[in-house]
Amino acid sequence: MISIKGLRKQYVTKERQIIAVDDLDLDIKEGEIFGVIGYSGAGKSTFIRLINRLEEPSGGSVTIGDKDITRLKKNDLRIARQDIGMVFQHFNLLWSRTVAENIAFPLEIAGMSKTDRKQRVQELIDLVGLTGREDAYPSELSGGQKQRVGIARSLANKPKLLLCDEATSALDPETTTSILDLLVDINEKMGLTIILITHEMQVIRKICHRVAVMEEGKVVEMGDVLDVFLHP
Ligand code: ADP
Ligand code: ADP
Repeated sequence: MISIKGLRKQYVTKERQIIAVDDLDLDIKEGEIFGVIGYSGAGKSTFIRLINRLEEPSGGSVTIGDKDITRLKKNDLRIARQDIGMVFQHFNLLWSRTVAENIAFPLEIAGMSKTDRKQRVQELIDLVGLTGREDAYPSELSGGQKQRVGIARSLANKPKLLLCDEATSALDPETTTSILDLLVDINEKMGLTIILITHEMQVIRKICHRVAVMEEGKVVEMGDVLDVFLHP
């Protein structure tokens, strides 16, 4: 479903030049939960942001379905991005908007009517287990609840692919487990493909089908989670 070939990202600053993602080749299957693990600075975040082109690549391709994301013009990229949801470590919620308004935001941008929006938002709120909290503000929610809002918002436009950027790294272990359970539930119910990056081994162990280990911009190991972690 997703084919990544020769993907590169080089950052050039006044002080130095660094290859954050170095000639990466990777195929991700439809419906799988694919994990990328590595130490801080390995290039994970740059990699995941290249998939929806929040970062411009220095070279290579990211083909999703039949579209090479790296070659799309602005308007086609905007349309392609509706099929890609993203969940962030620090939730990236709008603090002056309620739970329902945060989740409605991508639907508003996509031009959905008010009546349809209302129904869709309620479905999403029920799906992530926030029924009754529609009118709460993010500041009134726990970390886990905030991430549930982030997940609901990421699913609003019914994406085929979900990118999770350290989605549980700001949460305590118990809350992490409940958010990972929710991701598995969504993966199974909707057949959604999930790519997640993390520095936490237990996240990979708990929910990923396959894993890639990243070091200095390269994939140094890849395979089924059990194989990679049992035969280092
Ligand atoms: P990870 O997510 O695994 O911690 P990152 O993708 O954030 O790794 O970073 C990979 C490397 O690229 C690091 O050396 C980091 O300092 C560098 N880097 C990331 N973003 C930028 C940027 N905007 N400008 C310059 N260097 C960057
Ligand atoms: P981070 O944790 O990554 O520093 P925050 O969670 O503080 O980010 O903010 C996430 C998003 O919410 C950002 O896009 C930020 O601009 C926005 N934001 C933060 N505080 C407010 C606020 N008081 N009112 C409106 N938007 C806010």
